[in-house]
Amino acid sequence: MRDIILLKQGEMVLKGLNKHRFDQILQNNIRYRLKPFGKFRIYSRQSIVYVEPLNDETDVDGAFEALKTVFGIITLTRAAGCEKNKEAIAKLAIEYLKDAMESAESFKVEARRGDKSFPMTSIELAQYVGGELSDAYPDIRVDVHNPALTVNVEIRDYAAFVHGESVTGAGGMPLGSNGRAVALLSGGIDSPVSTYMIARRGVKPIPVHFFSFPYTSQQAKDKVVELAQILTQYCGSMTIEVVPFTHIQEEIRDKCPEKYFTLIMRRFMMRCAEYIAKSNGCGAIITGEDLGQVASQTMEAMASTQAVTDLPVLQPLVGMDKEDIVRIARKIGTFDTSILPYEDCCTVFTPRHPETRPEVAEVAQTEAVLDIDCLVTEAVNNIERIRVAL
Ligand code: ATP
Ligand code: MG
Repeated sequence: MRDIILLKQGEMVLKGLNKHRFDQILQNNIRYRLKPFGKFRIYSRQSIVYVEPLNDETDVDGAFEALKTVFGIITLTRAAGCEKNKEAIAKLAIEYLKDAMESAESFKVEARRGDKSFPMTSIELAQYVGGELSDAYPDIRVDVHNPALTVNVEIRDYAAFVHGESVTGAGGMPLGSNGRAVALLSGGIDSPVSTYMIARRGVKPIPVHFFSFPYTSQQAKDKVVELAQILTQYCGSMTIEVVPFTHIQEEIRDKCPEKYFTLIMRRFMMRCAEYIAKSNGCGAIITGEDLGQVASQTMEAMASTQAVTDLPVLQPLVGMDKEDIVRIARKIGTFDTSILPYEDCCTVFTPRHPETRPEVAEVAQTEAVLDIDCLVTEAVNNIERIRVAL
């Protein structure tokens, strides 16, 4: 008998009329994520998604690991199956839950019958299995009110199942259930985390990277590709839009006051990002800004950056401490790549004394010497697209 996987859906169960749509998106995402691991039957009942291997070629261990990265799932549980008779069920519970039983102080058994023709009631079955477990593990007491371990037994149409312990899932909402957004991805620590966090809210990201060759190197670009590759575990396959940014940066350097270099550059990033967003049906721009972290991340600087777009700019890290961001970067696996020491276009032509309290009107006035539309058009017309596959 093959193990099955039970997935508990997250907050989307609260979403009323949208529930069916969320359900479908989640199941499609699960199906997509499980493709490399063989054939599974996937269906949901009462906020639980069941993943059942269809043959012996499936890799249930691999599937279980992969499902930990699927948004919209709050817990994952493996369950072992056996014949539908009480002796077989008790024997399986004793063996399958050995580790959990040995480390718990108290337990109770909960039984459910999907197959009502089973000859015992749920309560009788729970009592029987509880009794057998007590005999096998005499040091653990039964506590029906506040047990350290709840043993779940389920009778389904074709088999009985004993659930193992649950592990935490990726949480959030199913990818794609909240539309799409462009995600400004540098090679730093912050932007992969901000991309992940908004993706976790159900938004499919389209990564955008600004590349200033030869001021920034091929290695800097490769690093961004590597980060996007890591993010595919959560975000699925993506196409990175690499925007050539050299000409824009040189124009700013040659024609604008030094203290405004970074601010004007960031306004160009937003204009290009908005263009890409609108051509790809995206509803927002995601960035990794963190209030007060660097000169371009004061409230005034953010106002000047955001003034050039009417799309919402989502900055999920804005109120976080660096340690919290680093913790997430480690958890999602981007940290080690992010700290590789390559330059970013934000670090070329950096002003010695950046303006931290800019007036939006003044920034706009100083950049007016540039042919803004022409520079943006030139950049977005020469985008290089790099596919990163899950
Ligand atoms: P990060 O760690 O994400 O690089 P940061 O703290 O270095 O962030 P900035 O360099 O000011 O901050 O960049 C702020 C945000 O602007 C980044 O989080 C990212 O979303 C975007 N950004 C910066 N440089 C680039 C780039 N070369 N390509 C795309 N987006 C960028
Ligand atoms: Mg950076």
